Amino acid sequence: MKIDSKLYVDYLQNAYQLIHENEKYVTDLDLATGDGDHWSNLNKGFAALVAMEDELRSMPLDQMFMKIGMTMMATIGGSSGVLYGGAYMAASKTLKGKDHMEAADLQLVLAAMLKDIQSRGKAERGFKTMIDALAPAVDAFKEGLDQGLSDHELLAQVKEASLEGAEATKTMEAVRGRATYQADKGVGHLDPGAVTMSYQISTLCDTIAKTIE
Ligand code: ADP
Ligand code: MG
Repeated sequence: MKIDSKLYVDYLQNAYQLIHENEKYVTDLDLATGDGDHWSNLNKGFAALVAMEDELRSMPLDQMFMKIGMTMMATIGGSSGVLYGGAYMAASKTLKGKDHMEAADLQLVLAAMLKDIQSRGKAERGFKTMIDALAPAVDAFKEGLDQGLSDHELLAQVKEASLEGAEATKTMEAVRGRATYQADKGVGHLDPGAVTMSYQISTLCDTIAKTIE
């Protein structure tokens, strides 16, 4: 696989579309365990990115990631704005001098995002957060690379891991985020941030898969 700035911006557009279509679903999830703003926060951030698509497409990968991070930090707000903003800025450091990403580069990008989110949010897997959709995807990506899977198999495995990870938050007790304020710690509800993380990872995999024969 070969992912350049242009393809990454195609992904941002596709992710924006999926997020945009799921206003009620995601808002209801955040109303059940949080304050109901997660969808509008994230939607605002992706709208801002799509509005600057021409500029992003023309940038080297590392600068584009830095710009995406700064834009997310400034527009999304809430916990997720800081976490996504920081994650993109951390990932940008892995992309210096690269005009495109191969599979292994993308795995490093996602691993750098995971590390930054974990340290910034002082959270680990199992805490019922966005991490629960990202960490299994990072692991599945690494395992798939080690197993020598084809690009299609690899992308399918990463996508599946993130969707299953989001699904698994339903039975978790929250240790971070607003769901910790609920008497039931959110048990029985999916974590909205994990669901939207799985939207992003699955859309990324789908967008890349379409470019491979
Ligand atoms: P806020 O909770 O400030 O209203 P959002 O509604 O934008 O922020 O985002 C909520 C999501 O952010 C949660 O569903 C959870 O996935 C994620 N989140 C919250 N706190 C943390 C944390 N400390 N570490 C990782 N993810 C977190
Ligand atoms: Mg919220």
